Amino acid sequence: MSAGAPKMRDLSELAARCRAHGVKATPQRVEIFRALLETREHPSPEAVYRVVKRRMPTVSLATIYKTLEALHAAGLARLVSHSGETKRYDGRLDPHHHLVCRSCGRITDFNHPALKDLALPHPVDDFITDEISVQLLGFCNAACREKQNKQENNNG
Ligand SMILES: [Zn+2]
Ligand SMILES: [Zn+2]
Repeated sequence: MSAGAPKMRDLSELAARCRAHGVKATPQRVEIFRALLETREHPSPEAVYRVVKRRMPTVSLATIYKTLEALHAAGLARLVSHSGETKRYDGRLDPHHHLVCRSCGRITDFNHPALKDLALPHPVDDFITDEISVQLLGFCNAACREKQNKQENNNG
């Protein structure tokens, strides 16, 4: 586990949080919730599956998909959308922004004073804004950019 990773959670506390949000707290669901909260990697359902399977070998990928959707619908998880890719979930609910690598797909939390007090352009037609999340797209480092360039040259 990397430095600064969220610490282990109390399962009964997580189960209580699920129930408070109307999510049935089965042992599998609570483990899936825990796996999401214990990482800052913004995991895909497949990544959550790999972690939960180690603790609960009988869990199915379908259960992971359904549970993540239920947690999201209940407001216990956020969906980090970035175009064209598989779904990526975020257990962190406080306002924050993301750095998204176009090459390896890594998503890193990001905060900056200039983004903290973003003024809402209000109203935006009939759109009801309830959250602002900025995504900075680019590359983790020169190596990721190099890798992506190579791939594009091969495809082109
Ligand atoms: Zn990268
Ligand atoms: Zn995040």
